[in-house]
Amino acid sequence: MNKSPISISRPKPFLLKAEWEDGFSATISCEKFRRECPCAECTGEKINEVIYSLPKPIKFEPGIFDLLDLKIVGNYAIAAFWGNGHNTGIYTWDKFRTIFENNNLSEEEIAKIEKVATNDKRNIMLNVIK
Ligand SMILES: [Zn+2]
Repeated sequence: MNKSPISISRPKPFLLKAEWEDGFSATISCEKFRRECPCAECTGEKINEVIYSLPKPIKFEPGIFDLLDLKIVGNYAIAAFWGNGHNTGIYTWDKFRTIFENNNLSEEEIAKIEKVATNDKRNIMLNVIK
């Protein structure tokens, strides 16, 4: 099955919504999406059980959770571009779908996040992570 979504949208600056052909749709926070970044820097590099680098903790600097752009990579993945310049995360469609399946926000959770959110997007949801 091709797991690429049929649509991806931003219902709010801090939310990402995706829909698939099989009818599944979910809304997650950009922060969660950033925290699931699959790049080697964020997850650490391990080849054949040999650890080459450890996962780097997220540095709280301006723009870390500002999702600036998403670009399709071939027919298998999507790349994310973040406000602090981080751009090495390439999410395969399998990974992308799994993130949405595991982190779908309810209307109540979205309302809660919105309440916490201030005008400063960088501070959004540091304390409200699903
Ligand atoms: Zn990363």
